[in-house]
Amino acid sequence: MSYLSKAAAEVASPPQSKPLNERQVPNSAGGYSFAVDDWKRLDRFLILGSEGGSYYASEHKLTVENIEAVKRCVAADGLRAVARIVEISDAGRAPKNDPALLALAYAAAKGDDKTRSAALLALPDVARIGTHLFHFVAFVRQFRGWGRGLRRAIENWYTMKSPEQVADQVTKYQQRDGWSHRDLMRLRHIAFAGPYQSIAKWVVKGELTEGIAKRIEGHVKLQATKNAKEAASLIREYGLVRESVPTELLTEAAVWEALLEKMPMTAMIRNLGNMSKVGLLKPMSNASRNVSLRLDDKEAIRKARVHPIQILIAAKTYEAGHGLRGSGEWTTVPQIVDALDGAFYSAFQNIEPSGKRFYLGLDISGSMWGGAVAGIPGFTPAIGAGAMAMVTVKSEKNYYAAGFTCTQTGRYGGRFDDGINAMTPIALSSKQRLDDVLRDMRALQARMGGTDCALPMLDALEKKLAVDTFIVYTDNETWAGKIHPTQAVEMYRQKMSIPAKLVVCGMVSNSFTIADPNDAGMLDVVGFDTATPAIIADFAKD
Ligand code: CA
Repeated sequence: MSYLSKAAAEVASPPQSKPLNERQVPNSAGGYSFAVDDWKRLDRFLILGSEGGSYYASEHKLTVENIEAVKRCVAADGLRAVARIVEISDAGRAPKNDPALLALAYAAAKGDDKTRSAALLALPDVARIGTHLFHFVAFVRQFRGWGRGLRRAIENWYTMKSPEQVADQVTKYQQRDGWSHRDLMRLRHIAFAGPYQSIAKWVVKGELTEGIAKRIEGHVKLQATKNAKEAASLIREYGLVRESVPTELLTEAAVWEALLEKMPMTAMIRNLGNMSKVGLLKPMSNASRNVSLRLDDKEAIRKARVHPIQILIAAKTYEAGHGLRGSGEWTTVPQIVDALDGAFYSAFQNIEPSGKRFYLGLDISGSMWGGAVAGIPGFTPAIGAGAMAMVTVKSEKNYYAAGFTCTQTGRYGGRFDDGINAMTPIALSSKQRLDDVLRDMRALQARMGGTDCALPMLDALEKKLAVDTFIVYTDNETWAGKIHPTQAVEMYRQKMSIPAKLVVCGMVSNSFTIADPNDAGMLDVVGFDTATPAIIADFAKD
């Protein structure tokens, strides 16, 4: 009878390699997960992008799949798709704006009449700077021809801004992707008038007319300057930015000192290394003090829509100055390093701590070490999971963190074939600096295990941990477990008499989830969405 009862047990409670019900689909790892709907996939694509691909799919394949989802959203409800693109892009929730520009371009080309108009109308909200506009044009031209609507949208992109704002754009971002302001301003049937016309004349023909925007007048003067002192005074007089400074003067501290006075937050964060190289940012200098004060300003960080990932990249570059030999060497200022660490957390939307008990389950299995979050080299989903978990660690008091590891080498010598998968505690602490956490995360690669997304719940059951909310940071490619994650949640709820919730923090823009879409106690969120930690806290609170 044993063959019968064995088969009966499997039918009653299928392992992750068999579907739990007819709503599950095969994932890329040989297991079964639920499918996210196209709208969730659109969110994942807008936020995580597909640059760098994933462990299971090449960049190209993952991108094509995501564009197919964009296509289906635009076909199903074009206006809703455009609204979502604008919402995520405009709030600065994504590390990179390119997926939003691509999706908007698609809607502006292939949507129905209303969708196309809405997409073109939203152009200035999604393409906020010249570079974005060039990306958009490059994308949209792959999907459609010029046409009256598109030309008018480009014209509006300029004329809805004040002449000084346009002057700012045309001096700062001159060309990208084979497109320039000159190309766009020369498009037939775009007619600029008044102050816009003088700007267009300068952009297209290099002609300076009387009464042209001050920014352009200053830009032209600065470009002709060879003297640092004169350059500094022009920067102050005309409010000029780095892009207007002749390259040979970018090694002058006096020039950077003048630039820093009114430097926008994102530019400041991006240029910490440059300002250090020229000797402006050094221990105990006024400039260093001002920079760390500005980084400490939570409101200013949020208002500038700096994404936490941009801060992470800046911190990495800045800290690399320490201990490096050669001409680019600088001494890092500890106050700036601390301020950057704090700024990472400020860049997320404001979190109201829930006060609930969290089990943070970090999928650090093999697949989480492939590909890159938002195409950032070396920033794999596993390391990203550590950074995301830290945001909750910083805001909540009751948490326990553990990773998917393998305790034993398997039968065939590999780690995943037959090893024992188990949760291993990860000592995340709110006192830790993010940089140290990420280093510790990298070290965990040596211990990566198979993927069993049910483990966090089973581990909590075994340890009798009282948990209100499980957060699993994963690519949802679960396969190695004897029971499905949703069953594990159900079992946990019953045995512990706690109506525990499950939050799945998707770290890869694929179409799978371990959360049952029909269970109101389960939620899918996207990793590195600046809104995610706040959404998790709200969901945990009800
Ligand atoms: Ca995996």
